[in-house]
Amino acid sequence: MKNIDTFDFTNKKVIVRVDFNVPLNENFEITDDTRIRAAIPTIKKILSSGGSVILMSHLGRPKNGPENKFSLKHLIPGLSKKLGVKVQFADDCIGEQAIELSKKLKPEQVLLLENLRFHKEETLGDEHFAEKLAHLADVYMNDAFGTAHRAHASTAIIAKFFPENKMFGYVMKNELININKVIKEGRKPITAILGGAKVSGKIEIINNLIDKVDNILIGGGMMFTFIKALGGNVGNSLVEDELIETAKEAMQKAEEQYVCFHIPTDTVIADKFDNNAVHKFCNAHEIPDGWMGLDIGPETGQAFTDIIESSKTILWNGPMGVFEMDNFTQGTIEVANAIVEATKNGAFSLIGGGDSVAAINKYKLQDKVSYVSTGGGAMLEFIEGKTLPGVAAIEN
Ligand code: AMP
Repeated sequence: MKNIDTFDFTNKKVIVRVDFNVPLNENFEITDDTRIRAAIPTIKKILSSGGSVILMSHLGRPKNGPENKFSLKHLIPGLSKKLGVKVQFADDCIGEQAIELSKKLKPEQVLLLENLRFHKEETLGDEHFAEKLAHLADVYMNDAFGTAHRAHASTAIIAKFFPENKMFGYVMKNELININKVIKEGRKPITAILGGAKVSGKIEIINNLIDKVDNILIGGGMMFTFIKALGGNVGNSLVEDELIETAKEAMQKAEEQYVCFHIPTDTVIADKFDNNAVHKFCNAHEIPDGWMGLDIGPETGQAFTDIIESSKTILWNGPMGVFEMDNFTQGTIEVANAIVEATKNGAFSLIGGGDSVAAINKYKLQDKVSYVSTGGGAMLEFIEGKTLPGVAAIEN
């Protein structure tokens, strides 16, 4: 496999699939540029090694062709500033102008292509479309971990037109190295903390992790499906009745494999789903009718803290409660603090999946954990044990 650190980019045109799917406000200003900042080292490496860069990405979910609000042209000023290079732009990712501009591209220059998803062929993984993109360059690089679980034209199909010259960029490389530090090379004891709203989105992860970890801590809305499966009263809490059997099977599997499966013993209950609701602590298995659990309680927070602080490898996905509301954020804060403490003491900690990343950022602790994954869905599928098309296309 070719490597970004050792490849000779001299006079090479490199088409890089980046994840520039950033949020824009009504004035088309970028409100969070994390994903752009993440791609800068990859781009600068190619430029400083004598190559030129053709950037391609999607932005949002355009339905029927070009739409101004999804145009990547809004990214040009910010990107030019970060790179210290005037970024050129092609109004269409394929066609005459893209061909002309890429032909004229000189070493150390950067060309940004318009949103790939203005062509439906992108998400359909169309081979002819991928070939047209491939013709623009000499080398293909995938640096979009966030879409690595999709077999789209630019994330996977295009790789076949570069049998020799394809590789990962730094974002992809780092994501794979860091996720593997948990699922392949984790030092024991390994603890997975899983929260968030529903069991349905997480059950495959739970089942795959049982083979790999020592402790599984369950929090968030999904704890109530497990509590109900154990015969507890969950009142009006979020429950997926159709998954009660699945929850029982997961707990059974964990027991057979000597994995400690920790279900909260106490919770914070509220009389409605509202920050201003009446709320109090309660045994998590005895929630009265009319009340719903919206966070883990202090006893559980302490128990989880003790387990986390004695772990050597930690994976966290999903908040412990409705962390967006101040009255139900405490459990998530405690877990985040325990992860920071464990990291200080030498543990490796990986935070991944949309809302736990939002939580760690909200508490400004993102620099105090080992690694924050940028690829929500892709990271989860990787942890589920699935092959990611974007990874396989480069590796095979
Ligand atoms: P997910 O996207 O599955 O990780 O879910 C994250 C969402 O779960 C957040 O918006 C939380 O507010 C929500 N959540 C966490 N705990 C609960 C709970 N006990 N009841 C309802 N929603 C919850």
